[in-house]
Amino acid sequence: MKQHLRLGTISGIPVGLHWGLLVIAWLQAASLAGSLLPAASPGLGSGAYWAAALTGVVLFFASILAHELGHSLVAQREGIRVRSITLWFLGGVAELDRQADRPRAELKIALAGPAVSLVLALGFLAAAVGLEALVGSTLVGTVLAWLAFANGVLAVFNMIPAAPLDGGRVLAAVLWARSGDVSRARSIASRSGRGFGAVLMAGGLLLVFNGLPGGITIVILGWFLRTAATQELRYHELAEQAATLPAHVAMTPLSSPIDSGVTVSGLAAMVSPLSGPVAFPVRDADGETRGIVTTLDAAGVSAKRRSQVTVADIAVGFDRFVGARTDETLSAVLERLGTPEADRAFVYDADGRPAGVIGPAELAAVRSPVAV
Ligand SMILES: [Zn+2]
Repeated sequence: MKQHLRLGTISGIPVGLHWGLLVIAWLQAASLAGSLLPAASPGLGSGAYWAAALTGVVLFFASILAHELGHSLVAQREGIRVRSITLWFLGGVAELDRQADRPRAELKIALAGPAVSLVLALGFLAAAVGLEALVGSTLVGTVLAWLAFANGVLAVFNMIPAAPLDGGRVLAAVLWARSGDVSRARSIASRSGRGFGAVLMAGGLLLVFNGLPGGITIVILGWFLRTAATQELRYHELAEQAATLPAHVAMTPLSSPIDSGVTVSGLAAMVSPLSGPVAFPVRDADGETRGIVTTLDAAGVSAKRRSQVTVADIAVGFDRFVGARTDETLSAVLERLGTPEADRAFVYDADGRPAGVIGPAELAAVRSPVAV
C-alpha cells in the first residue's frame, strides 16, 4: 500500500496515510456534523458540530491505527517483520513480511486487532454512559457513543470468517491446527473471502436499486475483498504446487562465466531477448569467481546507467547463497530462504555440478507478504 503522507514510526514501523483516507474522513465528518450530531444534541452552532465531528473522526482513525498496531506488535513478538501500517479509505492495513509459521502464531496475530477494537468500543461506551449519568446528554457524549459504535462494528465485521478479513485468518489458523495442512486451510479461508465479497457486492447493489444509502460503499468494499481473496488464493495454489514440484522448475539456469568488467548493456547484448532468465558466474581478472549475476538482476538497473554499471557492481556474493539440489522440492528450498543474509539458493544437479540459482524473484512468486 502506497503511503502519501508519512506520520512517523511506531516500534520501528513506518506509519502513513493514503490520500483516499482524507476523502472518506471528510465525508464522515460532514455526515456527523450535518445530520447525526445536530439530531442527537440540537440547539448548538455549526462550529461546535464541526469541531466535535472532526475530533470524532480523528479519534476513529486513531482507533483503526490501534487495531493495526495490535496485529503488528503481536506479529513482531512472533518474529515477523512489519513493513508498514497504512490508513486508507477502507480502514487500515499492516503489511507483514511473511505468514506465520505456526497456527497458534497466526491465530494470535489475527485476534489481536479485533481485540483492541473491542476494548476501545467498551472503553468509549463506558465513557459515554458515565458522562451521561453525570451531566446528562451532551455533544461530547454523542461523539463518544458514536466512537463506541464504530469500534464495535470494526471488531464484529473483521471477525467474519472470510480472508483477508481477520476472521478469515482465524478460520485458517483453526483449520490448519486441526488438519496440519496449511495451504488447504488458507485456500478455504480465501474461498470464503471470495464468496463473502460477492455477497457484499450483491447486497450493496440491492441497496442502490432500492434507493437506500451506503450501497456504493458496500459494493466497493465487496469488490476489494473479492479481489484480494482471489489474489491470495492464487498464492496458496502456487505454494501448494511448490510442495510437490522439484526445485529446478523455478531455477534460473547457470551459463558460462563472464568477466567482471562487462557492463550491464554488454551483458544484455550477450543474451537473446527470447531466452528466459539466465545466471552467470562473474570472474575476476585473476580468474577467481566473485559472485553470480542474473539477467533478472541486470533488468533492475536503470537504462541510463547500464553502460556504466558492470556485472561486478551488481553481482551477488556467495555468502548470500544457501546450497540446494535439483531433486529437492521447491518448498523445501524456499523454507531455507527469505532472510536478508540468505535470500538465494545455489542449485547443484544430482552429480554435484552447479546447475542454477533461485533468487528473490522466484521467491516472491511463492511466498507472498500478507496484509492484516
Ligand atoms: Zn485487523
